[in-house]
Amino acid sequence: MDRIAVCGTVDPGSIPSGRTLLSWWDAPNWQGSDLESRRPQGLGGSSPSPTAPADLPAGGQGFKSSTLRKKSSMIKKVLLHSCCGDCAWKMAASNLAETEPAELTIYYYNPNIHPRSEYQSRLKAMQIVAKNKGIKIIIPDWKPGEYFTTVKKNDKNRCQKCWKLRLGKTAKEAKARGFKYFSTTLLTSHYQNEDEVRKIGLVMEKKYGVKLWIPKKILKEVKTKGFYKQIYCGCIYSLVERWEEKYLKGI
Ligand code: SF4
Repeated sequence: MDRIAVCGTVDPGSIPSGRTLLSWWDAPNWQGSDLESRRPQGLGGSSPSPTAPADLPAGGQGFKSSTLRKKSSMIKKVLLHSCCGDCAWKMAASNLAETEPAELTIYYYNPNIHPRSEYQSRLKAMQIVAKNKGIKIIIPDWKPGEYFTTVKKNDKNRCQKCWKLRLGKTAKEAKARGFKYFSTTLLTSHYQNEDEVRKIGLVMEKKYGVKLWIPKKILKEVKTKGFYKQIYCGCIYSLVERWEEKYLKGI
């Protein structure tokens, strides 16, 4: 039985007509064509396929039976900030490579992702990974204002502030929900400053009294497929930069 649960809200406008929230959530056939129709046009990137990643074991986070036999109270419970399916998949794979894997719950808190259609495409990719792995997912309201009041235009420390916002909120939420650990998939990305993200994580660890969980080995090179992949970091500024990069290269 799937362990997926939804907290928070999903924009009712994003649910195809004729479906309830639950049928939309569980419908197997949105994974392909619906995703394709939501991709930003003309931006390139890889197309999603309608299938879930073939090398993801289905259900139950893929724990070894010895881990399942462990008392649930002994398994580390981690609230994992996740920004896209690709990074979530890599973190789930890194977790499974641990001697004692943790129990992950995805926290899709990303007010930095614009526009709304992009946020939704990444959310659907996240749902494919979460459903396939049997990982619970918490979806808070999408409030881009939280990003724009934190990060100003031409802000030199834009990314640091963005990481602080998302890690801080995740650590705070972890504390409030009784998790002893929190983490972030930002650690898996070649496009983020891992050292800086770790430093910020440790600051939030102290501030909120929940431990930063990092797998011993982060499997950054794992290949993933079967879901939408973005071609820019997330904020509108990074989208503009990506466009400029393409035009400067004459693509
Ligand atoms: S480029 Fe990425 S990390 Fe930096 S501010 Fe934008 S969304 Fe956040």
